[in-house]
Amino acid sequence: MKFFDRLLLENRAWAAGMKTADPEIFERLHEGQAPSALWIGCCDSRVPAEQICNAKPGELFIHRNIANLVHEDDPNAASVLEYAIQALKVDHIIVCGHRGCGGIQAAVTGGDALAALPNVDRHLDQVKQLVAERGAELERFTRLGDKVDHIVELNVIAQVERLAGMPVVQESWEARRAPTLHGWVYDLATGELDDVYRQDPGGEAGEWAESGWRRRLAG
Ligand SMILES: [Zn+2]
Repeated sequence: MKFFDRLLLENRAWAAGMKTADPEIFERLHEGQAPSALWIGCCDSRVPAEQICNAKPGELFIHRNIANLVHEDDPNAASVLEYAIQALKVDHIIVCGHRGCGGIQAAVTGGDALAALPNVDRHLDQVKQLVAERGAELERFTRLGDKVDHIVELNVIAQVERLAGMPVVQESWEARRAPTLHGWVYDLATGELDDVYRQDPGGEAGEWAESGWRRRLAG
């Protein structure tokens, strides 16, 4: 069977299974959405947002781009953010990076990897900037994978901090003390999510927590 035929067939099986478990589910979803969280994740095919946290349809409003980046000058990300905060009034924004991120690795190694991919190269400008600013910290790691995973965490924290400084977020904090901002990292090697950073509405600075990867590395 061809790949796309399998997907269509699996869709029918999925829809039937969902209706068996919850007969009114699609009628309810058809009425509208009220997701609790905006998820900003990487495009990577190995990090399927809903599946890794068993979220149901209607629970997560999702934006994905290479290396889970937020930028005011990106009309796609900015429109998703505006809609999630102002129209859907989400209570949480989760920025989810992942270990072994190809986008982050390209920014860490630089050079030829991005030469033939000018749009990806431009998109990753802010990660390259982060690598330039924090490059000295990478010297303590010998493996490329660990250097990448270190930047993966710093990048998630940087995105949460960037969100915290955006007018659309600050105005929402003023008006309704939400959303709370979360920085998570998904570990491809274990299938587990680590909660590495949190910024409460209006709080001074975010709270950092040690990830499983960092604990294992230290330990
Ligand atoms: Zn990635």
